This record gives sequence, C-alpha cells and structure tokens, in this order.
Amino acid sequence: MAEDCIFCKIAAGELPSETVQEDEYTVAFMDINPWTRGHALVIPRNHSRNLYEVGEEDLRHTAAAAQRLALRMRQRLGCDGLNLLNATEPAAWQTVFHFHVHVIPRYADDPLQLPVRPRQAEQDELAQVAAELRGG
Ligand code: 5GP
Ligand code: ZN
Repeated sequence: MAEDCIFCKIAAGELPSETVQEDEYTVAFMDINPWTRGHALVIPRNHSRNLYEVGEEDLRHTAAAAQRLALRMRQRLGCDGLNLLNATEPAAWQTVFHFHVHVIPRYADDPLQLPVRPRQAEQDELAQVAAELRGG
C-alpha cells in the first residue's frame, strides 16, 4: 500500500466507495465523476503507478475483472456497448496514480463523442513509425 494513495485506501476500505465487485486481487467501484451511467473503475489491490509499472499478474487479474464487470453491466444495466480505457501519465489524462482501468458502459443515445478526428496516414509515415517501434 502506498501512502496517500486514495485508491489504496479504497481497496483497504479506509475510504468509502460504491464497490460493485471484488476478489482477492482486484476491486471495482463507481467513478465519482461518471462519464455515463454505471462508469466504474477496476484496480488491482497492489499499488503500482500505471501501465508502465503494473505487474503482469495484476494486469491479468484486472483485465479479467474488467471483463466480468462488462458482462455484469450488459446484464444489469442493459448497456449497448462499453469502452475500456486506461490513462498512463498526465500526457494521457492520468490523474490518480494507482493503476486502474475505466469500464464505461455505453448507450446508443449517450452524449459521448470521440475526442479525436482520425485522419488517414501516408504509407511512409506508417512505415517510419513502425520501423522505430521494431528497432534495430
Ligand atoms: P484517471 O484520470 O487517472 O484515468 O482517472 C481517475 C478517475 O478517478 C477519475 O475518473 C475520477 O473521477 C476518479 N476518482 C478520483 N477520485 C476518486 C475518489 O475518491 N473516489 C472515486 N470513486 N473515484 C475517484
Ligand atoms: Zn495505490
């Protein structure tokens, strides 16, 4: 447990939360600023800063818990779909530095919109960035 980490405190029951699902490794609870009805967060009980640092086992347990929650949302909330989201570092909107995934139920008539307007890339642009990622 990390000092002054609100999600560690939620996992330990030291801060209140609307918990909806938990197991030995993970806890899922309602986000206090929901993007849609039912927006929840899944966290591993172990503290890590974000995707760069989370252990593989915790990542696996978190992904599996997110899937169980997704199925529960479909069944109980009647959502039409959902988004799974992770923010890693402030550049990517991370504000709480305990690894978590957002499970955001989506409804056909909800107001969320894509935050980007995708544009088609040139072939050499893709080749260049792919080469950088492959290395060597
Ligand atoms: P991030 O921006 O790091 O991906 O997401 C952090 C999320 O945690 C935000 O959506 C925010 O609303 C939520 N959050 C922040 N503080 C609390 C809290 O004390 N309790 C709960 N349940 N959610 C929180
Ligand atoms: Zn923590």
